[in-house]
Amino acid sequence: MEKTPPLFIAEQFKNIQDLWYHIKQTNWNSITSKGLQCALHKLAGEAGAHGYFQINIAAIMFEKSLKALNPSKSLSSSKINELDKKFEELKQSITLLKISSTNQIRNETVPQNSPRDERSTGLIYLIQEDAELAQDLAIQIGYYGYRIKTFSDIAQVIPYIRQEPPTVIILGSGFQKEELDNLKQNLPEERSQQDAIPLFFISDTDEINHRLEAVRAGGEAYFTDPFETIGLIDALDRSFNCQNDQPYRILLVEDSRFQAAYYAKILESVGMQTRITTDPLKIIRILNEFNPDLILLDMYMPECTGMELAKVIRQMEKFVSISIVFLSAETDKDKQLHAMSLGGDDFLSKPIKPEHLISSVTSRVLRYRKLRSMMVKDGLTGLYNHTSIKEQLEHEVARAGRKKYSVVSFAMLDLDLFKNINDTYGHLTGDQVLKSLARFLRQRLRQSDIIGRYGGEEFAIIFPDTEKECIAPIMDELREGFSKIHHHADNAQFTVTFSCGIAAYPDFLTANEVNEAADQALYQAKHLGRNRVVIQEAPQ
Ligand code: GH3
Ligand code: MG
Ligand code: MG
Ligand code: MG
Repeated sequence: MEKTPPLFIAEQFKNIQDLWYHIKQTNWNSITSKGLQCALHKLAGEAGAHGYFQINIAAIMFEKSLKALNPSKSLSSSKINELDKKFEELKQSITLLKISSTNQIRNETVPQNSPRDERSTGLIYLIQEDAELAQDLAIQIGYYGYRIKTFSDIAQVIPYIRQEPPTVIILGSGFQKEELDNLKQNLPEERSQQDAIPLFFISDTDEINHRLEAVRAGGEAYFTDPFETIGLIDALDRSFNCQNDQPYRILLVEDSRFQAAYYAKILESVGMQTRITTDPLKIIRILNEFNPDLILLDMYMPECTGMELAKVIRQMEKFVSISIVFLSAETDKDKQLHAMSLGGDDFLSKPIKPEHLISSVTSRVLRYRKLRSMMVKDGLTGLYNHTSIKEQLEHEVARAGRKKYSVVSFAMLDLDLFKNINDTYGHLTGDQVLKSLARFLRQRLRQSDIIGRYGGEEFAIIFPDTEKECIAPIMDELREGFSKIHHHADNAQFTVTFSCGIAAYPDFLTANEVNEAADQALYQAKHLGRNRVVIQEAPQ
């Protein structure tokens, strides 16, 4: 049986497709050629490592053909045809995997990935009887970058839910209880709270009875017609961001490896990531490296007690808010309370039922992430804030430093002549532009790329494990794409551009140096006339 293609292949292929179309249409030069070669090289390596040999071979052949061409000569149409063939072969190798995985779902075999992995990002299903209303709403939502499929009734949508699970289902008309029950039964079984597909209701009445019915049917949001589209978009964004969160990271500190492995297995069964340590003295290094959401702490271990360890963790400012849950056979209530007073958030007694462990951990992590997101995210755009993006750059550079041959690229963006936009159209319109750039970046970049709002109208992006030569063409395409977006203010329409500077580790050896180098490149881009991307090369 073929395997379901993992998300990384789909993401990387999309990137390759974009790069190739870009080259084919207008832009063949040494930077774009190198960018595509890099992307193919990466896909070949990772596909090979996962046993997708057809994809590996197709990507290598495509890369080879590109390498053989001189980027300073123009691309003849026969060369384009030749490369197009290689592209189609690569596409075919991936499509083959997809076909077998769709069959797999149709045949009702258990999918190997969690529904979260299969969910199409930003896909919305709208169920609305009135075709005209459906069309109107679809256009408006589409404007914010979501893909939308419309259906006239619940029965129609059901076969699609399994094949291509959406981010959100919007119910736009009144529905009978039986129909809603039918829908609920056909939603994929959720293995954790992150997996659930939220239902949004649009209703023409605000009566409490209707609202209650919606809540009972599992409704996450409720809108009374007429409503502002932006409110709906904000709710969609929240769901979307929430689902795109990384898997929960749980650190288990426990002297018995056997027990730890058992609990880890339970948590992993619902898609959480775990790390085990039987040596509590290694905890600081592991905390920095693994960056867990929650620590499950044994009370009694040979080197030190869980209480002592909790106290140590709480003394580090970075980990003040992390969840610490004791997991112990200790039954003495006084001792339990004492342990909590030293910095624990909860006390779970061994033996514990798997469902109980999962639900305690899930609710703690959800709360921790919400709190953290208020601390690390920028309120206007929902991107990482200044402090947080700087911290993450340090983290990524340190991580790359520990691995051989690892790289991190960093891009700084600054909107061009943005003061004019504020002066001409007002600050609120300016804010809308900032939001739309944030949304644009989030949608176009990979999940592994870390995007932040560095300051007023400055943004920063960290690209782990990616060479700057691969980033430059991507940033250039984003620059061009963004410059074509029409922004609206009252009766006016306008466009905005940005300039971008790129630098990378290990060309520059510390996070600070990388940051400064990218800033210098950005300054160069401004100096050279704005609306362009400049790479900071390694110092000689
Ligand atoms: P340059 O191309 O040289 O970057 O020109 P600029 O006008 O973008 O640069 P300058 O640094 O002179 O002005 C930045 C402007 O960005 C000033 C400020 O009004 C605007 N700005 C900063 N933060 C915000 C914000 O949160 N909302 C809005 N609407 N505008 C902001
Ligand atoms: Mg013990
Ligand atoms: Mg600026
Ligand atoms: Mg600016």
